[in-house]
Amino acid sequence: MIFDSYTCKLDCDCLVLNDLLLRFNNMTFQIDSLMITPNLLYFFEVKNYEGDYYYELDRLYKKTKIERNNPLIQLHRSHSLLRQLLQSLGNTIPIKAYVVFVNPASTLYQAPLNIPIIFPTQLNAFFHNLNKTTEKSTNKHKVLAEKLVSLHIPKSPYNTLPEYKYSDLQKGMCCDKCGNLSVEIAGRKCTCISCGQVGLVTNAVIRRIKELKLLFPEYKITTNLVQEWCGGWESKKKIQRILDKNFKTVRNNRWTYYE
Ligand SMILES: [Zn+2]
Repeated sequence: MIFDSYTCKLDCDCLVLNDLLLRFNNMTFQIDSLMITPNLLYFFEVKNYEGDYYYELDRLYKKTKIERNNPLIQLHRSHSLLRQLLQSLGNTIPIKAYVVFVNPASTLYQAPLNIPIIFPTQLNAFFHNLNKTTEKSTNKHKVLAEKLVSLHIPKSPYNTLPEYKYSDLQKGMCCDKCGNLSVEIAGRKCTCISCGQVGLVTNAVIRRIKELKLLFPEYKITTNLVQEWCGGWESKKKIQRILDKNFKTVRNNRWTYYE
């Protein structure tokens, strides 16, 4: 938002594209802000670092001595991919890439003179200079901007999943109607205490196994694991029977699991 407050005040002829996720050669890269001006493309990697940092031998550290990802390395990679992508689109406008520190409460010690970082104290002057551009954009610039927007990859919902661990998740049987984990078992039937839904235990176990596979695709599905995941109420024998009947058995020397 701090950065946008500068770009939106520009009255020179330019196009600004924010938060682009692009792909070139099967590698994805993100562009915080791309400014298309008549003679130059500006690529900005915006960082909101707060506190004291220092630069040493191409590495960035937060004081005292906690290494952080060097944003210049990220910038370099994205810049290279963007350049290749634009070349493949026939673009000949040169690109300038910068990391922008927007937080006024940040300091970077030992920053080399020629480093492509714009510091908070330089933002005003940088945009003031940029605003002096008098050249006009042409249709070529508009076409390029539209092309880049069309190549933008919308964020996949898988990227925004919260982190979860098996040990943190509540175990038990799950109601297929309301999703509640308060299910009572009697014989072959299970009843949801919350909504009253009645179903077959077998179906409830199969549903739980499918959830387990979806949540933890790297796990081997074993009788013990399923028993624990379902809350430990049902006998191993019964769970094994359900697994045998509904899933593919894989046996190796040491154990049996299901796919
Ligand atoms: Zn229910």
